[in-house]
Amino acid sequence: MAKTKTTFFCQNCGSQSPKWVGKCPACGEWNTYVEEVIHKDDNPRGSWKQEPAKLKRASTPKKLHEVNFEAQPRLITDDNELNRVLGGGIVPGSLVLIGGEPGIGKSTLMLQIALTLTQQKILYVSGEESESQIKMRADRMPFKSENCFVLSETNTQQIFQQVEALKPELLVIDSIQTLYSSHVESAAGSVSQVRECTGELMKFAKETGTPVFLVGHITKDGSIAGPKVLEHMVDTVLQFEGDRHMSYRILRTSKNRFGSTHELGIYEMRAEGLREISNPSEILISQREEQLNGVAIGAMLEGNRPLLIEIQSLVSPATYGTPQRSSTGHDSKRLNMLLAVLEKRGGMRLGQQDVFLNVAGGLKVDDPALDLAVCASLISSYEDNPISHEICFAGEVGLGGEIRAVNRMESRISEAAKLGFKKIVVSKYAIKGVDLSKFDIKVVAVSRLEEMYQEIV
Ligand SMILES: [Zn+2]
Repeated sequence: MAKTKTTFFCQNCGSQSPKWVGKCPACGEWNTYVEEVIHKDDNPRGSWKQEPAKLKRASTPKKLHEVNFEAQPRLITDDNELNRVLGGGIVPGSLVLIGGEPGIGKSTLMLQIALTLTQQKILYVSGEESESQIKMRADRMPFKSENCFVLSETNTQQIFQQVEALKPELLVIDSIQTLYSSHVESAAGSVSQVRECTGELMKFAKETGTPVFLVGHITKDGSIAGPKVLEHMVDTVLQFEGDRHMSYRILRTSKNRFGSTHELGIYEMRAEGLREISNPSEILISQREEQLNGVAIGAMLEGNRPLLIEIQSLVSPATYGTPQRSSTGHDSKRLNMLLAVLEKRGGMRLGQQDVFLNVAGGLKVDDPALDLAVCASLISSYEDNPISHEICFAGEVGLGGEIRAVNRMESRISEAAKLGFKKIVVSKYAIKGVDLSKFDIKVVAVSRLEEMYQEIV
């Protein structure tokens, strides 16, 4: 007889305890422990195969310089945005988690990838939809693939049985929260189930070299539902973000064992699927005829990718008591700091003004190089004086009102030139040794906010 055992799991971080505790000793959250039944059967936990695993050759230490390193050929998809966020294609045997709010389009993205990789045999396993529902969704897309297989199943042992028969070259699981393993006896979506199923899938990926994509739902506070341990277990975590009411979607890397974590992919959601946006600056800057107050363009970097982005602000006298400070897509503490600098160094009287700041396109930005654009936009709104749409900015603003250098200036300048800007305002410390003559744009080097002010009036 198999023994029934229960353990308490923290629903936040996944740590376990034999008895209930009020406060999690690992992550400090209160009331997160839930009792879950663990039932162990004869099969060892974590094994994805039905039969006992064969004895493997023990590995021995090797001298580092004797280690043969052959760059594993990555699977390059048709989707350049996905290739970029993965660090240059799909790595064999990698376990990739795609997180995002319900309804944002994770399943669409995965199905589209499955359908566009026509040369590879792909198994799309869904625990959320039936085969006919998936077929209906696929029919709306313009892609056709002979090699895309679908399976509606939630039991991992059943899935592995099908996988062994089919031998797919890529496995997609939609979603990890719907799976359950027979080795654990708690409900699907619980910490122990999510952990067990991910463990089995990871083992499968590593032993067979098959890349596995997991779709994971996200909770209201933005973390992937289920234990934090899920994020630790996988190789790559991609976040699929965007406003459900807007058509743009952003695919962002938050963890990647095979590449940089600063990459960004941008898509447009259309009725027939997701379209890559290869030139995002065009959508991040609104097209308009007339010039508006409070709009400034900043040249930022997201990963290796230069982006020109529109910063909008509205500064107006506060009519109801305490002035409001609100920023969307930008750190509000940073905004307060810049306002203080403008007040102290620029002599602007902002104490009785409401200030609203918005980053266009629904993007969240944290590049300090946008400081200059934020300041320019605030000044423009405060003085009701529009900035020419041919100017853009790249520079960090210090507490003394000085303009500091930011990295990778050349790629920012060349992106601005490529998009037809006539003038870019940068820190004079950032362009030392940079050959400016090769850019078809006027580069204005400033060292203080006052000098920047001269450029926009
Ligand atoms: Zn915890």
